[in-house]
Amino acid sequence: MSKTLFEKIIAREIPAALIYEDEHVAAFRDINPQAPIHVLIVPRKPIPRVAQAGPEDQAVLGQLLLKAAAVAEKLGLKDSGYRLVINNGPDAGEAVPHLHCHILGGRKLQWPPG
Ligand code: 5GP
Repeated sequence: MSKTLFEKIIAREIPAALIYEDEHVAAFRDINPQAPIHVLIVPRKPIPRVAQAGPEDQAVLGQLLLKAAAVAEKLGLKDSGYRLVINNGPDAGEAVPHLHCHILGGRKLQWPPG
């Protein structure tokens, strides 16, 4: 199986601005930021998307959200607020088939999203 784009970033085969990593997840700045702070947090395990996650992934999914909150706090977003986004499939605009959660903040975000 070839590596996903995000596996290559985690392996330092593709450069990225990594801001956090541990045994479960890695977080790095999005290459095309949609807000003053736009970070992607990804599980090391290359689950393609949340629809493909199974019961065996329960701990990984929990880590993803808990660490997203920790990274958002590290980025100074705890009090101002932030948005977590997981795109799943074509209608959501999913472009990279390796589960990832967007952390968006640093400006007032619109609702509903486009
Ligand atoms: P999706 O649309 O799949 O939810 O989000 C994929 C995200 O990955 C996009 O926001 C896109 O800008 C980001 N992205 C795509 N290629 C790269 C890359 O090579 N490096 C980084 N840091 N982000 C990328």
